[in-house]
Amino acid sequence: MEDESGSLPPKSDFSAWYNDVLWRAEIMDVRYPVKGLYVWFPFGFGLRRHTYAILRSLLDGSGHDETLFPLLIPKTEFMKEAEHIKGFEEEVYWVTHGGLTELDVPLALRPTSETAMYPMFALWVRSHADLPIKVYQIVNTFRYETKHTRPLIRLREITSFKEAHTAHATWDEAAAQVETALSLYTQFYDDLCVPVIISRRPDWDKFPGADYTMAVDALMPDGRTLQVGTAHHLGTHFSKTFNITYEDAAGEQQFVSQTCYGISERCIAAAIGVHGDDRGLVLPPKVAPVQVVVIPIIMKKQAEEVRAAAEQLRAELDAAGLRVKVDDRDLRPGAKYYHWEMRGVPLRIEVGPRDLAAGTVVAATRDGEKMTLNRAGLAAEIPGVLSAFAGRLRERAEASLTSRIIPAESVETAVEATKSGIAVVHWCGDEACADMIEKETNASVLGTEVRSVHIEKSEGACIVCGRPGTSTVIARTY
Ligand code: ZN
Repeated sequence: MEDESGSLPPKSDFSAWYNDVLWRAEIMDVRYPVKGLYVWFPFGFGLRRHTYAILRSLLDGSGHDETLFPLLIPKTEFMKEAEHIKGFEEEVYWVTHGGLTELDVPLALRPTSETAMYPMFALWVRSHADLPIKVYQIVNTFRYETKHTRPLIRLREITSFKEAHTAHATWDEAAAQVETALSLYTQFYDDLCVPVIISRRPDWDKFPGADYTMAVDALMPDGRTLQVGTAHHLGTHFSKTFNITYEDAAGEQQFVSQTCYGISERCIAAAIGVHGDDRGLVLPPKVAPVQVVVIPIIMKKQAEEVRAAAEQLRAELDAAGLRVKVDDRDLRPGAKYYHWEMRGVPLRIEVGPRDLAAGTVVAATRDGEKMTLNRAGLAAEIPGVLSAFAGRLRERAEASLTSRIIPAESVETAVEATKSGIAVVHWCGDEACADMIEKETNASVLGTEVRSVHIEKSEGACIVCGRPGTSTVIARTY
């Protein structure tokens, strides 16, 4: 399946680079004959597996239980919540037939699972003792996208939607759960070394059927932001619709307050986009399917000894819990370096006859740091080398983000700022002013209540009308 002909476009041509790197590094195959549906290469699926293992561990460690609901949702349930239907009606795929027989009730392929889960929540919740419910599933969802589709970013089948759904006795507890979700997502993106900005979406951009929506955005190399996570406070919209109630201490029936929060494979698009370079992927060690590649430098002399030493090293690193591969294919070392650099492997170790004699190995991290390490005790050294590499990735990503966050005191400066990154303006909260900003900049108001170590919150005159406003982030978006 490998084809290394031609060369990768430079990353400065981001769109071309992105499309090309996905197949050269064997992440996604775009040749599946349905628009907006893509195939994970096994290497890409390994990246997915390690990425989602972090999410699972964060959720499992904070009181969530993993579950699995059906893909099909009866139209009768789907159509119950008015705002929700309005938000999704143009994107839903319907199953209308079983074989040749028309179904009495058409079935929706889930675009998201509120209307699959909440009728069941109504059966599960009886008393205060049944609360809170905190469940999640990692599933495929379907949306009939009419915009230009793009692998991992805009899909008709989202293959890896991690959706969490919670139910609580009070509105405040649900609000606290939204904060918990945001803190888990912040940790998750820190493991991917991807800096993110959290903000509260304007009301017209919130999830259909939510009281409010908090969103997590990453800044891609082309200056556009990618929404890589959301957390919604659903209030009692859905519990009233699906009659999810509990009996309180006074014996009264109360509606539960709910939240839901999700992350899709866009998280992988962000890691690829933020870290990659002109030579291919650069993967954060925690999610790299191969963390260390061992390249035996085979000469005529001592070929067997070198092979054996490479295998011995592989076994040691494997025993130390590292994901390691020996590349002993009959290829020039340069071709092997190219191959593994394209796939973003964080660390390469070369084992040659001279190293054997000296009791050392030559190692190089994916960002070009070369070092000679002692062969004795090497397995214990590697985690430190990988973690220093991750630290440099994080620092570079932070520096790149901060250099593209630009305070803008006027609409004109916001227009300039959003050409390359994120404008921080003061906005009064009025929709007409936001419309004006969006029209002039051709960008979107991401939100207010901004949380980012890179953006200081402040008050000031709205850049459109001059009335009191607060810090608001604006960017062109995917
Ligand atoms: Zn205004």
